[in-house]
Amino acid sequence: MLSPQRPRLEEARRAIEGISDTSRAWERLVERGVVPKAWLGDPRRKFELFRERGCPVCRGDGRGSWVPGEDLGPADCGRCDGTGIEPFWSEPSRTPPDLEACVMFASDPEGVAAAESLAREYNVSLRVWGVSEVPSVTWRVGGPPLAGGDPLPWGLRQFLAQSARQDPRLREEARRVRHLVQGEEFAMPGPYREAAEQAEEATIFEALLLQNARVEGPPNMDEYDRKHVYPPSVLGKRLAELPNPYEPLLRIWSLGYLLGSTLPEGILLHAPRLGGSSP
Ligand SMILES: [Zn+2]
Repeated sequence: MLSPQRPRLEEARRAIEGISDTSRAWERLVERGVVPKAWLGDPRRKFELFRERGCPVCRGDGRGSWVPGEDLGPADCGRCDGTGIEPFWSEPSRTPPDLEACVMFASDPEGVAAAESLAREYNVSLRVWGVSEVPSVTWRVGGPPLAGGDPLPWGLRQFLAQSARQDPRLREEARRVRHLVQGEEFAMPGPYREAAEQAEEATIFEALLLQNARVEGPPNMDEYDRKHVYPPSVLGKRLAELPNPYEPLLRIWSLGYLLGSTLPEGILLHAPRLGGSSP
C-alpha cells in the first residue's frame, strides 16, 4: 500500500543528473520523453509540498499559557498540541516542488496518469450524491495522507452501513474483507483504516447490487436532513442505476496512490515519497 511500481525510476534519475534547478529538471524529463510533453504547464495538474514550520502561537516550544490558580504549570499549546510544529502545504504549482518530487512523478508516468483519470471518474460518479465536479487534480507530496478529510458522501456510507446492519450474512462477509485488508495492522493510522473501510463498503455495495437494492435513508431522519444527504437523484433509485464510486477508488489504491478528498480547488491525490512504502 502506498508504494507505486515506479518502472522508470532509474531512467528518471539518470535524465536529471547534474541538474539542481527544479523547473529545469522537469523540462529535461519532458525533453527526454520520460514525462509526456502535454504535462508541461498543464493547468489541470498541480503539485504541493508538505512542510513544517515553528508554531506561531507558542513560537516552537510547545507550551501553552500558564493559567492562574492552577498548580500544574503551563499546559500544552492548544494550536500545535505541544509539538511546537505546524504542518502546512506549499502553494500549488504546475511543477513538482523539488527534485525528488520530479523523479517521483517521472518514475511512474502511466500510473500517475491512470490515477488522475480514475480520480476524475470517481469525482464524476459522485455527482448524483450532490458532490460538485472539480476540474483539476492536486498532487500532495509527502506528509500525512488523508489530511483533506473524508472523500465519500456521508449519505452513501450511511446507507451501506444501515443495509449491512440489517443483514447478518452480509455484515459477516464485509467484516471478513475488512480484516483481510487491515490484517494485523489494527494500530495503523489513517490510510490502512481508510482502505479497509472502503474495501468493506465496496463489498456491501456489490452485494446490494446483486440484491437489486434501492437507496433508502434511515427511518428516523427528518425531511430537511434527508433532502440534503439523499438528493432526489439517489433516493429511491436502484443502486444499479448509480455509478459505483468504489471501483475507481480501489483501483487508485492498487496503483500505490491515495485519493484524499475533493476540494473546490482540486481533487487531492497523495503521492508517497521515494523509499517510503508506508505512510
Ligand atoms: Zn504551539
